[in-house]
Amino acid sequence: MRIIIFGPPGAGKGTYASRLGRELKIAVISTGDIFRDEIKQNTDLGGKVVEFVKSGDLVPDEIVTDIVTKRINMPNSKRGFILDGYPRNVEQAKSLGNITKVDAVILLIVPDWIIVERLSNRRICKKCGAIFNLKYLKPKRPGICDKCGEELFQREDDKPKVVRERLNVYEAQTRPLIGYYRDRLPILNIECNSVDIPPKVIVDKILQELQKLNLLG
Ligand code: AMP
Repeated sequence: MRIIIFGPPGAGKGTYASRLGRELKIAVISTGDIFRDEIKQNTDLGGKVVEFVKSGDLVPDEIVTDIVTKRINMPNSKRGFILDGYPRNVEQAKSLGNITKVDAVILLIVPDWIIVERLSNRRICKKCGAIFNLKYLKPKRPGICDKCGEELFQREDDKPKVVRERLNVYEAQTRPLIGYYRDRLPILNIECNSVDIPPKVIVDKILQELQKLNLLG
């Protein structure tokens, strides 16, 4: 199974992708997570992308596509993969089409006010990357990850100024991909109209839709 999870920043892509990855035993390829890791480890790649990520702008297509190609060809992607955060523009979608076949796009449809609530309250574990929300997915102990006990932090690019830029970039470059894929792949429309829907409910909805397309085998 090869799927793309698609939607604006703060739609819940990372949360649902990691659950779907576990459920379906397929690799999760999150370009944002890859870049954050590389930046944290001060690698060459981290150095090349840090300014783009910090400002909320897109990293150049060649860099991103190169990384995604490598990940897709890794043994743990053999059973399939879910792409979170890629493609981000039509150019990347065309490149992806040259690298691999994709079965479906999961489109998360989320009202703007939820996006703002999600991004401004999102906190992430420094160690394992688990995602929490100060209002809607609270950690049991304030500031501490339920899963591994490490400290939580706010992503630099979840601060208001950068969020505005990321949403602008989404509207200008990423949203047009919906039109691009409409004629090419099945699109699963997943409505998320409330902030307190437990992630499991959305993930179950996605699994049902994948089942309808006979993608669950
Ligand atoms: P995300 O975690 O998906 O919101 O990504 C965080 C940041 O990483 C974005 O604001 C971009 O700077 C960069 N990034 C992630 N994926 C891509 C991509 N496919 N193309 C270009 N830049 C990306």
